Amino acid sequence: MRAIWLEGRRIRLRDDVPVPEPPPGEALVRVHQAGICNTDLELVRGYYPYTGILGHEFVGTVQQGPEPLRGRRVVGEINAVCGCCSACRAGRRTHCERRTVLGIVGRHGAFADYLTLPSPSRSPPRSRSRSRFLCTPATGCSSWGTGSSASWSRRP
Ligand SMILES: [Zn+2]
Ligand SMILES: [Zn+2]
Repeated sequence: MRAIWLEGRRIRLRDDVPVPEPPPGEALVRVHQAGICNTDLELVRGYYPYTGILGHEFVGTVQQGPEPLRGRRVVGEINAVCGCCSACRAGRRTHCERRTVLGIVGRHGAFADYLTLPSPSRSPPRSRSRSRFLCTPATGCSSWGTGSSASWSRRP
């Protein structure tokens, strides 16, 4: 699949990254659009030593996952937590000992054709308009489309 890969402060478009195989409890999501935010730019500048696929703001469709989510359009919660460590059990999910963060810490991100995330950490988008959802003034982001979705992400 295609992916924007960060390594040693250099980004490059790769087309040889395998489609991820979702581990148990995770879903495979086909990415339609992803937003570029300042965190991505800071990662490229080297503020945190991340190697892998960038991107943590996206909308996509669940390809593999639990029945109620399959085929649904979803957005992502960027923090992926284990749900069973002492912090998770105490309700402090952001302090999970095994936490990964989409496209930032220990988990490949959304600037790719596919990504995986734990199933419970995703929720359906609030807006019916895909483009508007990712490009509200509040987020101030740019949009990035992939594959067949590129037609509706094109700017006038
Ligand atoms: Zn961000
Ligand atoms: Zn945990």
